[in-house]
Amino acid sequence: MSIAVLGIPFDASSSYLRGAAQAPIAIREALRGGSSNMWTEDGVDLGQPAALADLGDLDVPEQPEAATTAIEAGLRATLDLGHPLICVGGDHSIAYPIIRAFSSRFNRLTILHFDAHPDLYDELDGNRLSHACPFARIMEEGLVRRLVQVGIRTLNGHQRDQAERFGVEMVTMQNIAKLHNPRLEGPLYVSLDLDVLDPAFAPGVSHYEPGGMSVRELLTCIQSIHCHIVGADIVEYNPTRDRHAQTAMVAAKVLKEIAAAMRRCEKLAAGDSGRS
Ligand code: MN
Ligand code: MN
Repeated sequence: MSIAVLGIPFDASSSYLRGAAQAPIAIREALRGGSSNMWTEDGVDLGQPAALADLGDLDVPEQPEAATTAIEAGLRATLDLGHPLICVGGDHSIAYPIIRAFSSRFNRLTILHFDAHPDLYDELDGNRLSHACPFARIMEEGLVRRLVQVGIRTLNGHQRDQAERFGVEMVTMQNIAKLHNPRLEGPLYVSLDLDVLDPAFAPGVSHYEPGGMSVRELLTCIQSIHCHIVGADIVEYNPTRDRHAQTAMVAAKVLKEIAAAMRRCEKLAAGDSGRS
């Protein structure tokens, strides 16, 4: 089964800087640009014709409510194709309509969310669809069974209250050394805000929050997932802040390793049910 890749070029719900709408094109260029190859670290060639299916970019209006509706509708249609799906944002506001679509198809989803920020604000600057709010919307609608956040290092009082209210499981950056396998079960959705990485590794993001993960730590987390991954997003890449597409290469690398984890877990599931 091919893994589908869908661009969602929307950044109008960013609270600080625009630019993430330009990410899908830049990440595709990094992925196919020839400075690396299409092999994953566990030895799968994603350059094979059937490995990745690039579905192009969704057509998303600028207005946040209209965008949310369009993204959810686009995602529902895309999920009808039956592929595991990696969405390339876009700012993190897109996670809310994406998860609305996934939750209509998969019961008892778990989200593994990598981010410097919990994105649990009830509203920010009067915008309940801000990229600082998607996980508040997801949790208050009861769209998922578990939300596990990793790499958080900007927790304030309001968001701490929200996390308690929603039963969010949180591994802060301060406690990252204690990160052990959080016993993830499928169906799993991985939401990756690239600002979880230290800005030294990924300068192409809008919000620089020092003290983050290394690329290697993130890859180790992804490579240690052993359950059914049905979808993922890679968000908040901002090419206008990048240096020589350094962060685009990080995004492309992580996209490949998420695809590898999806394939590995599909194989495991097939083996479990006796199919080859
Ligand atoms: Mn963030
Ligand atoms: Mn975020």
